[in-house]
Parts: sequence; C-alpha cells; structure tokens
Amino acid sequence: ALKYYLENSASVLSELKTNENGLTSAEAAERLEKFGKNKLADGKKTTLLQRFIAQLLDPMVLVLIAAAAISGITSALQNESFADVFIILFVVVLNTILGVVQESKAEKAIEALKEMSAATSKVLRDGQLMAIKSEDLVIGDVVIIEAGDAIPADGRIIESASLKIEEAALTGESVPAEKHTDVLFEKDGKDVPLGDRNKMCYMGSCAVYGRGRVVITGTGMNTEMGKIADAIAKAEDGETPLQKKLSSLSKILTWLVLGICVFMFAFGVLRNGATFDNALESFMLAVSLAVAAIPEGLAAVVTIVLSIGVTKMSKQNAIIRRLTAVETLGCTQIICSDKTGTLTQNKMTVVEHSGDDEKNTAISFALCSDSELTSDTEANGDPTEAAGVIFANKLGFNKNDLKIQFPRTGEAPFDSVRKLMSTVHKAGDRFIQHTKGAPDVVISRCTHYMQNGTVLPMTDDVRSFYMAENKRLADKALRVLAAACREYDAEPASYATDDLENNLIFLGLVGMIDPVRPEVPAAIQQCKDAGIRPVMITGDHRDTAAAIALQLGIITDQSQAITGADIDEMSEEYLNENIDKYYVYARVRPEHKVRIVNAWRARGCITGMTGDGVNDAPSIKSADIGIGMGITGTDVTKNVADMILADDNFATIVSAVGEGRRIYDNIRKSIQFLLSSNLSEVISIFIATVLGFTILHPIHILFINLITDSLPALALGMEKSEPDLMKREPRNSTDGIFSNGVGFNVFYQGLLVSVLTIIAYFIGDNLGGAEHGITMAFLTMSMCEIFHSYNMRSQFGSIFKLKTHNLFLFGAMVLSLILTTSVIYVPFLRDIFGFTEIGITEYAIAMLLAISVIPTVELVKLISNLIKK
Ligand code: ADP
Ligand code: MG
Repeated sequence: ALKYYLENSASVLSELKTNENGLTSAEAAERLEKFGKNKLADGKKTTLLQRFIAQLLDPMVLVLIAAAAISGITSALQNESFADVFIILFVVVLNTILGVVQESKAEKAIEALKEMSAATSKVLRDGQLMAIKSEDLVIGDVVIIEAGDAIPADGRIIESASLKIEEAALTGESVPAEKHTDVLFEKDGKDVPLGDRNKMCYMGSCAVYGRGRVVITGTGMNTEMGKIADAIAKAEDGETPLQKKLSSLSKILTWLVLGICVFMFAFGVLRNGATFDNALESFMLAVSLAVAAIPEGLAAVVTIVLSIGVTKMSKQNAIIRRLTAVETLGCTQIICSDKTGTLTQNKMTVVEHSGDDEKNTAISFALCSDSELTSDTEANGDPTEAAGVIFANKLGFNKNDLKIQFPRTGEAPFDSVRKLMSTVHKAGDRFIQHTKGAPDVVISRCTHYMQNGTVLPMTDDVRSFYMAENKRLADKALRVLAAACREYDAEPASYATDDLENNLIFLGLVGMIDPVRPEVPAAIQQCKDAGIRPVMITGDHRDTAAAIALQLGIITDQSQAITGADIDEMSEEYLNENIDKYYVYARVRPEHKVRIVNAWRARGCITGMTGDGVNDAPSIKSADIGIGMGITGTDVTKNVADMILADDNFATIVSAVGEGRRIYDNIRKSIQFLLSSNLSEVISIFIATVLGFTILHPIHILFINLITDSLPALALGMEKSEPDLMKREPRNSTDGIFSNGVGFNVFYQGLLVSVLTIIAYFIGDNLGGAEHGITMAFLTMSMCEIFHSYNMRSQFGSIFKLKTHNLFLFGAMVLSLILTTSVIYVPFLRDIFGFTEIGITEYAIAMLLAISVIPTVELVKLISNLIKK
C-alpha cells in the first residue's frame, strides 16, 4: 500500500487523481462502480440451514420428534394408521418454518432500522458540499470532518483546524490524537506506527474537536479497519429483559414438565402394571403433558410484536437502535431533554441588540461563524450562527463579501465547554480577531469595550450594565450571545484558545428568539398525566431557560432552575437527595449531564437523556434510555444512543414512551392469554389422569396450542392503546411476568377453562362414550380459548369500556373458529383426529360453555378492581 502519510498533500491529491474541491459526481459514480461500496463485509451470517437446525434442537421439538418416532414404531407393530405421526411431524415442520420466518422477519426489521440510522458524510462533489451516505464514498473524495463526526473511511488530512481524533478503536489509545498536515518522516527506515500518523485518519475513529478536510485514500475492506474487521466483535444486541425472563421461565417449565412426566410415567406403570401397552400409554400421557405445559408460540409472538412495534415507531420518527429500549421506554419516569432544538425549534432570529454600534456586532457575528448565506434571508449550518449571518445581511453586510474582504487565517472552534468561538482574519496588513459566545464568558475576557467607535478600558460599571442587559434579554426567553474583537499587528503566533481569548474588546449583545415547538406544550402535559417528569437541560443562560420552562409548564417557580455552577458546589450525596427539586439545569457542561442522570438513577428513576454534541456520549451512555438527535446529532452520540429521534422533537419521545407502554401491555396480554391456555391444558390432563380417564390426546393439545391459540395471541399484539395508557403511572421496571396480579389471573383463568372443558367431557361421555367426550372437550376448550382472547383486550379493565376495535383479533377469532369447526365436521380431518360426530345441540352447548368465560372474567375484573379501591 502507498504510504500517504509520508507524502505532501499535493502529491497525494494528484496520485488519487483528485483535487482540493473533490471529484465530479460522474467520476465518483464510476469509481463506486469499479471499487465497490465503502462498507465492511458483513460478519458471519447464519445460514437458513443453521436456523432450521437451531429450531429443531429446541427441547420441545425434540420431545415431539421422540413422540412421533415412538408412535410410528407402535403403529407399525400394531398395524394401525400413521395419522398421529403425520400430524405431529406436520406440527413440527410448521412450527419450524414459522420460527425461521419470524426470526428472519425480526432481523429484517432491525436491519431496516440500522439502514435508517446509517451514517452520512459531508463530501465535496462537483465543488458543492453535500451529504451522502458514507457507504457511497470513494477514493479521492474530499470530505469535511467536524467535531462529533465518525471518520467514514481512511483518509489523508489536507487541512486541519485543531482537528483532534479519537482512535481508541484502532490504537487502544483513548486520548484524542491531534491531527495536522505537517510532513512526517520514517525513522531509520522503520514504518510509522498507526497512532503516530498524524496526517491520516482512519475509519472507525471519530473527530472530537476542531474541523478538517480529508481526502479519502481507502474505503471498505481496504481500510485499516477492514484489515482487522474479523477481529471486531459484532455488537451483540441480545434479548430484551422480558425475553430473558421468558426464556428462563420456559427453562423452568421444561424441567418441571420433565419431572412431572417422569412421575406420571412411573405412577402409570406402577398402578397398571409394567406391560408394554401400559408403558406406552404412560409415555403418551407424559408427552401430552409436556405439550400442554410448554408455551410453544410464546417466544415467536413476543419477537413478532416487538419487531412490528419498532417498525411502527420508526414511522413515527423514533428509531430504536437497541430492542431493549422498547421495554425500558414504557418504564420511563424522567425525561431529561435539551432545550435548543428539542423543546424549541432551533430557528434562531436576532430580535434585539444591546451595545455600541449594531453594525460592528453584526459583522463580528457574520465573520466568526461557519454558516453561509443560501439566500437573502436564509443561511445554512448551526442556527445560532445562521441567525448572526442573516442579522448582518439585513444590515447590508453580505457574508460572501465579508469573507473576501477579511479572509480567515485561523480559528478556535466552538465547543460547549468553553462556550466560545474565535476566528482571526486578515484585514489589510493587520489582523483582527472576532470572538462570540455566552455573554458571561465573553465579558469576563474583555479588558476594553467599544463606545461611539472608540475603544475604552472596561470598568465594573460597564460590566454590570451589560450583565444586567443580558438578564433583561434572557428574562424575555431570548438566547443571548455576545461579540467581541481584538486587533493584531501581525498574525498571532498561536491559535490556541488560551492565547486568543483574552484582552478582548467588547462589542455588544444580541438576543435571539427561538420559538417553542408547537406540539411541545401538549407533550409536556401528557408527560405529567403519565407520571413522567420532563426536565430541561441546556447550555443556555439560566434566565432564558427558566423563562421558556415557565412558559412550557416544566417549572412553576424560578427556584426550580439551577446552573452547572450550582451543581459544582453540591456534593454527590446532596445532589442525589435534592435532585427532585430542580427541573431546569442551565449553563451545564456535558459532565454535569452525567451527574444529573446519575443522581436521578440513584433515586431509582428510569431516566431518558437526550444529547447531540460530541461530549454528550457519556451522559447518553449513563442514561437508561440514551436518546440521540437525528438532525443535529453527531455520529458519536448517535452511535451510543438507544433511540434516535429523526425529527429531534421532544413530542416524539413522549409518543415513543406511549408506544413502549402499548407494546409491553400487548405482549403481556399475549403472555397471559397463552400461559392461561397452557395451564388449563395441564390442569385438565392432571385431573383426568387422577380420575382415571383420557381427556385429550397430544395432537389435540398441539392443535389448540399452535393453531387455535397462536392467531389470537398475535392479534392481541396489535391492540391499540387502552384509554388510560398515558394516564397511569409508569410501570415498575423490576416487575416480572407475573407481577400486578397477572399470576393470579393466569391461575384462575386456566382453572376456569379446565373446569368448563371437564364439564363438556362428561356431557359428551354421557351422550356417546369416551371418544365423544374427548371431542366435546376439544371443541369446548378450543372455543374457550377463542373467546378468552377477547377478554384479554384489556387485562384489568372491562372490555366493554374500550372504544377501539381490533379487526385483527376479530379476524383471528373467526379463522380459529372455522379451523376448529372444520377438524370436527370435515370427515377426513375428523378421522385423523379421532373425533366423533357432533350434533348441532352439542355444538351449541360447547359454544355456550365457552362464551361463559367472558361474563365470568368480567365479573372477576369488576370485583378485583373494587377490592383495589
Ligand atoms: P445549548 O445549545 O443547549 O444552549 P451549547 O452547549 O450548544 O448548549 O451552547 C452553550 C452556550 O454557548 C450557548 O448558550 C451560547 O451562549 C454559546 N454558543 C452556542 N453556540 C455557539 C456558537 N456557534 N458560537 C459561539 N457560542 C455559541
Ligand atoms: Mg447548541
């Protein structure tokens, strides 16, 4: 490979057949075609065959296969039909196919989400700055890198303004490396180690400070990252807490069932004698129990409901990056949100000025910014900066002209810790520096101020006058920035912030209005109704923040707002104890955000935290739900976020919380439904065995579990939100599957269905013998489940109070009813299942027994709600 880090920019550019202004789109397209996409080869993907095998190795499936084999052998020995074997195998195949299909579907949904949050790069093509998918970068592209950007490919830095890059992923060194364009030499013919190649940047690292221009030298698998791609552990997403609880539940169930089976088997053999027939019968009974107790459809239903849920959320601008977030969202108690851009529109307009001549201030703002005019009234880039550029333009100073008149020679980029930005420009044969930033900081660095065009030494009176002006504007909910300047006879020797940002001449203040997002007040109210506390966090001035928070109803009193400086004064214990007194945190630095999140979490509150800047990654990581910004967010924060807001909007967080609650509710409905169904089967078989008869054969139970139950269970996952969804307190995050009375519900509902089934058996048995009894039991249990699914539309409230409809559930119930009826009335199917003919009256009796689950469950809900009150 070429050692680009040993050559100067000009020869690198010419070697790559490009120039400082990038490639043409035509050339880029050609190179993309020729060299392929800029992405790492996918990690080992599981093949279809591997997936099938994984499904078949499930203990449940193994039990079924064993059952099929044993019934196959006995059928052959006794010259009976192989119907049982076929049905069991059919179920196994169906189950496996469904398992594989749902798994790939869920994977596709996650993949699509990844695609949505795919990285983009700012690239120069045809001389124009544009954002493209990082995938489409080619060698020779010129890319602009700013603090917070992920480095999209390997590149040679051709311009650097204090650019610092964190390369821990490649070098293990977590201290950001300073990047410059100086020439580098090999020492003693030894290659320069990666970490020392300060003219290069590499895919997988990220810019944490400054700005730079980079020409791409390697893409995709030809990057340093590509070379070690195999060694990189793929970020495992894993299961959500609920899925984990469910898998441990099914493990427990499997062992329990095995135990009971062994017991039943021994019991049967001991009671009836150890003949082959008896052993066989006991074995089949044990199989029935195993089939009855294990909720086959459960895992599939949960995965499907989750993946449909996240797809729906992504359409509502909440892109889930970690599946676990869906569950955690439903438990959210605190939402810490940035003010600018999330609660407000981040459309800044200068509406006030205070200082000497507003023209001087305006010019200073226009020059000290990276925003450019896009029309007479619009500018691109950071809205705060754009406002300054437009402000100047309105006063007759066009940024494009200013740039030519005062070319920039160096800069100290903005960062939210300093809250300042400075640029130095050539002005004739002198140099002038412009600095803008938070007024308190700017004023503290000023030794002079401008009045009537003359520079006067700063006095305490002038300082307090402008601090008062600052407060006056901030109290009007305006964002206030100050401008200052400094003159030099010759170009400053150093562009270090410490050298530049002092001895400044104060120019003036501007107040910018940033309107609240129209949907936010309603969203704040929704939070409060839902027992969630909205908290505002901002780098802006306390008075500005408090004024907006009052307007939004986040606080009711000024004293509920504190600043980062106040937090600095507080000990950890004190902060943890008093955190709930404050809902607005102003003038915070990124490290304060971490302290705030941790304090809320120390109180046991599930906390969401938004962030956009490069320094926000730690607080996003600490939060239970880290929320990245889709529009203004940096790659660094997006990469650690659990959820990304495509529209940066606070209201989107609230609706995502609602979705999280709804999805969890629905999953719980499906779980309760399926578990009560399984329990009813276990209880029925158990009672029948004790009383000495057979109530259902394994294939009947399989049919109910996999055909009758699974459709309604899935449909329950599509339930719309219940009316009180955002009126109740957040769910407790430590709640298990059986919390809140769900365990009791599963129990009594399982018992109820088994009692009805046993009644039906005896009616059938009296009318036409044991086979007839089994048929009635099957019909009744199956229909009980169908009607019971309707009960589950609301877990704790009356289903007759719901104003929504669930057409999926209605369709699923009808379909399940048709399927159940067909296996009894279609002669061929009836024979396979070993059913007898059922008259219309008996059908009606079964139906009546089944429907009775609705009034019974309604009654229990009513009583238990009365007791709760
Ligand atoms: P926020 O955007 O929430 O106010 P930031 O950390 O981005 O928080 O900004 C902190 C403060 O720095 C702002 O209140 C403002 O006074 C100042 N500031 C913001 N953007 C710029 C900028 N581009 N140049 C100079 N100062 C800025
Ligand atoms: Mg900001």
